[in-house]
Amino acid sequence: MDRIDLRSDTVTSPSAGMREAMAAAQVGDDQYGEDPTVNRLQERVAELLGKPAALFVPSGTMANQIALKVLARPGDDVIVGAESHIVWHESGAAAANSGVQFTVVGQGGLFTRSEFDAAYKAPGHIIFPPTTLVVVENTHNRGGGVIFPQDEAVAICAAARRVGAKSYLDGARLFNTAAATGVPLRTLAEPFDLVSVALSKGLGCPVGSVLAGTADDVKRAVRARRMFGGALRQAGILAAAGLYALERNDARLPEDHANARMIAERLAGLRGVALDLATVQTNIIIFRMAPDAPDAATVVARAKERGVLVSAFAARTVRAVTHLDVTTAQCRHAAETLASVIAQG
Ligand SMILES: *Cc1c(COP(=O)(O)O)cnc(C)c1O
Repeated sequence: MDRIDLRSDTVTSPSAGMREAMAAAQVGDDQYGEDPTVNRLQERVAELLGKPAALFVPSGTMANQIALKVLARPGDDVIVGAESHIVWHESGAAAANSGVQFTVVGQGGLFTRSEFDAAYKAPGHIIFPPTTLVVVENTHNRGGGVIFPQDEAVAICAAARRVGAKSYLDGARLFNTAAATGVPLRTLAEPFDLVSVALSKGLGCPVGSVLAGTADDVKRAVRARRMFGGALRQAGILAAAGLYALERNDARLPEDHANARMIAERLAGLRGVALDLATVQTNIIIFRMAPDAPDAATVVARAKERGVLVSAFAARTVRAVTHLDVTTAQCRHAAETLASVIAQG
């Protein structure tokens, strides 16, 4: 049997249809604004997110880094949920590129408006760093793919706006939130000044994220993208994959969610496994191994020997992610394999 790769939803390869769309893409030099396919993708995503303008960028990390550059200044305080990608998975870039500091609030990636209020530091104070930005991650990766409650997002962004702070949505997996809740993307994006979505996760594209916001913020994002070395040329070949995925791959995300649920339900009852089924809301499964059970590295290594790839997220934490390159049958096989290597003790 082929190996079953559940390390991330980034491991997907472009399908034959996607490659055809890429090969056929009309292109031009995007730095002159002349790539028609990039322009079409940007218009389409701006429309989906209900924002005036959008910008194609090479990665979700760059989208996040551009957002910090555009919305905060060196020395500013940025309020963010626990274990956020922007804090944990970007190699220290926020400090290096934008010189911001983070105040981490809440639990499991989620936080409330009152936690925002309690952490907020007003500009003009003689010793406190001014809070100028709040970042929400939806779905939350290290939180286990959990959905950020929309009423709380609305309240947080309104509170931020009242005090003159900006808001940014790291929506790398916002398509998963929309698929799981039925709430339209534009409603999810509405409270935020700036929003990013990833094309290279559940949508199955090889490359790319899109930032969307006001025309002014996007204009500043164009400069930051150039500063970070992410301004591309005939990028239509990549944008074509995005347009293809929005048409073909978005609607099938509920299958990934059902597969994740099935795996989680198989593992949740096992001895030595702590898995909160309430966190399995989309395509990510995170579980912890008890002190007397095999650790994450052991589970990962044993599963790998049997052709199932998952990630060790911490010493006793394992993550599995479903995506369009694994079938329900493969996910069932992976669940049985994980259950069996865990039962080895
Ligand atoms: C994957 C991810 C990103 C960006 O990832 P890239 O690998 O740089 O495209 C950003 N935020 C979240 C929440 C993610 O899961």
